[in-house]
Amino acid sequence: MRIENPLILGAGPAGCAAAICLARTGETPLLLDRDEHVGDQLCGGFLSWRTAQQLGDLGIDLEQTGAHRVSQLRLFHEDRYVELPLPHPAYGLSRHALDTVMRAKAVDAGARLKFDTVRRLEPGVAHGQTQDWRSDAIFLATGKHDVRGQSRPRDDKDTALGLRLRLPANAQRTGLLENAIELHLFDGGYVGIVLQEGGSANICLAVRKSALASHGGSPETLFAELAELIPALAERLGDDWRDARTDTIGAVPYGWICRKTQPGLYRLGDQAAVIPSLAGEGISIAIASGVAATNAHAAEQGAEHYQQEFARRAARPVGLARMGWHLAETRLGARGALALARIAPGLIARFADWARIQAPPPLAR
Ligand SMILES: Cc1cc2nc3c(=O)[nH]c(=O)nc-3n(C[C@H](O)[C@H](O)[C@H](O)COP(=O)(O)OP(=O)(O)OC[C@H]3O[C@@H](n4cnc5c(N)ncnc54)[C@H](O)[C@@H]3O)c2cc1C
Repeated sequence: MRIENPLILGAGPAGCAAAICLARTGETPLLLDRDEHVGDQLCGGFLSWRTAQQLGDLGIDLEQTGAHRVSQLRLFHEDRYVELPLPHPAYGLSRHALDTVMRAKAVDAGARLKFDTVRRLEPGVAHGQTQDWRSDAIFLATGKHDVRGQSRPRDDKDTALGLRLRLPANAQRTGLLENAIELHLFDGGYVGIVLQEGGSANICLAVRKSALASHGGSPETLFAELAELIPALAERLGDDWRDARTDTIGAVPYGWICRKTQPGLYRLGDQAAVIPSLAGEGISIAIASGVAATNAHAAEQGAEHYQQEFARRAARPVGLARMGWHLAETRLGARGALALARIAPGLIARFADWARIQAPPPLAR
């Protein structure tokens, strides 16, 4: 059994943000991840203006990562389409690129990075595949993946699934997608499309299990049927999408917020609050939680205080995003959203701003 204080489980955005902040306050956190080689987590690849600002506070400049700058939002539903400016510039960046830069920043700041898969977590002890890790301050940041002993509840019978295609750069897609984030709404879900570094396209779909079933049950059939239904989507998918692998993630507990924890266990990122992905704000919440938890730890306020306070802070953005997601996944709601975007674009921009988390500033170095 190894004793490590503080111990961070998961080196995604939440875990890395916590590692950077803890290291800046003079601690030498251990950041533990199951993957030695940084993968490309399933994600929409959209980084909001708030996320860009938070990353800047951590010393990461998105302009230097090759991220694709985004200034317009396009909404599509059936034969309708609206384009409106985002309140502030945002970015498209793959998770491979983001996680690589965040891990490097954490190590530069003084965190140690090791690899093990945590199989079970109980108060004060993380049972890994290679050994047990004991700590008085555990930061749980395993994101979309639950660890036995600390699983999030799944109450929704018709849960949401995430699907993602990464398509190579090509001139036609670049012409269609440059500077924009697109949301193609359909009954039971939406497709989000954005260009990332190097011009590749991230095509990410969040859909109810029942909607996937009604489209034949397989991701490929769903993409093919949606392409038939939505000509603009077909144009963006082009001819090469069938050659790409579809990544999937099941049972995403959209809307869940953790309100209680145990002494010494700080829950971060998707293990603290799961904002519907339509808002493109999950990474911002992940970073905000990493900062808030480490501020609370430094001030010796304890994990329980942090968790309640963060739940309060996350309630508005998660609630608004949930409302937006429920509206957008119905025909009437989607039509209404496009009509509103056309007649009152300022209101949509305000809504997009309200659905961002008020992030605490990291403690000074
Ligand atoms: C379909 C979909 C689209 C999305 N699109 C966007 C978007 O465009 N913009 C946005 O801001 N957010 C988006 N999100 C949300 C965003 O992906 C998450 O909120 C964010 O990744 C949470 O970060 P995290 O650090 O908590 O967890 P993660 O990013 O999931 O990272 C968790 C880390 O923990 C590691 N890990 C997992 N299990 C273990 C274990 N047992 N032991 C050790 N290590 C482990 C993993 O390897 C990983 O490195 C989307 C979500 C979905 C489902």
